[in-house]
Amino acid sequence: MKFNIDIGHNCPPDGGAVGIRAENHLTMEVGKLVIQKLEALGHTVINCTPTKATSVRDSLQQRVKKSNAVKADLFVSIHFNAFNGQAHGTEVFAISQAGKKYAQNVLNQICSLGFFNRKVKNGLKYFVLRNTKAVAILIECCFCDSKRDMDMYDAEKMATAIVEGLTK
Ligand SMILES: [Zn+2]
Repeated sequence: MKFNIDIGHNCPPDGGAVGIRAENHLTMEVGKLVIQKLEALGHTVINCTPTKATSVRDSLQQRVKKSNAVKADLFVSIHFNAFNGQAHGTEVFAISQAGKKYAQNVLNQICSLGFFNRKVKNGLKYFVLRNTKAVAILIECCFCDSKRDMDMYDAEKMATAIVEGLTK
């Protein structure tokens, strides 16, 4: 398969949430591992993450443009949530029926690591999901401001769960 991996944020001024750990750092470490693991399985991966932007909107537009230029089978955006320190767990967003299937598979794999299941949710609010032509999902791996989640989090295990969800 041909994958687009979109590593959330990491593109100033698009910086992401900061909790116990920074979303920027978490998405980068998981995203890099996901790319490596997909390539090791023989898949083609195009990294859609830009390195600089004039605004958050521009950062998002660049991601969509990169994706739409290469006709990928699946666009996968990787994020970490933050709320009030108490909220925890995993949720995956999609719009299309095909996207929701992948979203459910990824969610099941991540939740099997022990994260609370916050369900597959409608992704209409996300620019990258609305505007990519590929089937698209956005993964909120867990909460970067939750002690429960950050104590459980392991980059290697998270990346493996995502890849299993995408490919099994
Ligand atoms: Zn994010």
